[in-house]
Amino acid sequence: MTTKEQSLVMIKPDAVKRLLIGQIIQRFENKGLTISNIKMATLTPELVAEHYPHLVEKTFFHEISDFMTSGPSVFMIVEGDNVVEIIRTMIGVTNIVDAAPGTVRGDFGNAAVYHENVIHASDSVTSAQEEIKRFFN
Ligand code: ADP
Repeated sequence: MTTKEQSLVMIKPDAVKRLLIGQIIQRFENKGLTISNIKMATLTPELVAEHYPHLVEKTFFHEISDFMTSGPSVFMIVEGDNVVEIIRTMIGVTNIVDAAPGTVRGDFGNAAVYHENVIHASDSVTSAQEEIKRFFN
């Protein structure tokens, strides 16, 4: 069964600095997904904490926060049938070292720095709705 869905995708500051925006967006377009909204913005520490509440208490949270606020990210709303699951498969697992070749993180991630994993995508339809509201008001 297919369901029309939306996902919030963020191309993180490492990928923007490394000029990977075009190659990453190309993958979603090649897959037949629709970019229905897109913008660039630099996250504030407050928004990073709101976006990653499950990590705020971790000892390494300041590294994540410094990284995510270090420069502009690209925010996109991507639409399509079962888009949340499709995009999570396309981006690969969190840890670059384990991310499969062919995935965005597996092909572009910096294996030397855990948090520099190129991209974020919503992990459920519910979090997609919250994240779209957070980043696109
Ligand atoms: P995902 O981004 O795959 O949904 P999480 O929500 O667990 O994964 O983590 C959010 C982000 O925080 C990761 O993408 C990564 O940038 C960073 N992160 C997660 N765990 C660690 C860790 N152990 N050390 C450093 N950074 C981490």
